[in-house]
Amino acid sequence: MQFAMFQGERVEAHPGLKGHCPLCMNATLAKCGEKILWHWAHRGRRHCDPWWENETDWHRAWKSRFPAAWREVVNFDAITGEKHIADVKTDTGVVVEFQNSAMSADELRSREAFYGKMIWIVNGLPFIGQFHVLERLPSPDWSGNDDIRFFPNRRHFTRRQLMFMRPSDDPNRKPGDLVRIHGGHEIEDAVRRTYWGHHLYDWVRPRSVWYDATRPVFLDFGGDGFWHLQDYSNYGLQCVQLVAKAKVVREHGGVFDTFDDFVFPPGPNRAEPTVRAVEPVDLLRDDDLPF
Ligand SMILES: [Zn+2]
Repeated sequence: MQFAMFQGERVEAHPGLKGHCPLCMNATLAKCGEKILWHWAHRGRRHCDPWWENETDWHRAWKSRFPAAWREVVNFDAITGEKHIADVKTDTGVVVEFQNSAMSADELRSREAFYGKMIWIVNGLPFIGQFHVLERLPSPDWSGNDDIRFFPNRRHFTRRQLMFMRPSDDPNRKPGDLVRIHGGHEIEDAVRRTYWGHHLYDWVRPRSVWYDATRPVFLDFGGDGFWHLQDYSNYGLQCVQLVAKAKVVREHGGVFDTFDDFVFPPGPNRAEPTVRAVEPVDLLRDDDLPF
């Protein structure tokens, strides 16, 4: 923890200081070394909040973008008596949770239910090698999408290019029928005109707990932008949208003065869309379709 109670005030750890935990009121010791992040630890036992993660530089750097009074805020449910420490709680009551490690689906649901209005910011660096941002998509609002069903380009699809089918090609399609496959080049212009940061992606061995989230999930792989996990369409297609970190932080009352609000297209130091060689395919059997 960055803060403990000392003489009635929230204070940061300093060498030799003793305080107590704002959640369980037990004694805490200041842990201050040359090589560690200065923090408070419960004396001789684990943290009292089962949702608490060991605080990393990544957590601390993110929390410090928000006013000190908003960090490590004790939330109390008067009905159940449950208490937890939110990483950040803004003055509008939105909780921002910074998650570094894996988490069970049960814990995800409990935390979302407990905090209500919240967003997740997830450290993507532990799985950056498994996360591939793929082709650009047109804006979900583009009217042309009405007659398009994009294929998700999962890993087992060897063809890595934007591919889709058109329901209007065969309105009476039945299981087993052949389906005409269209390529991204047919809508290149629309993608260029309407692109708003949306991409297909391929997450190998995903931390699938994040697919269960009902609150916004922003993946942080470094760089200026988050990749926001989203549903692209009502036929089950998932996408990621690149959004400026500055924008998300400022929208929640934090400070982020390093970068502009708009960061796309992605630069060379970030997860880059990778487009593999095009294999000519123009017919797929209906049974092979992902929707
Ligand atoms: Zn405690």
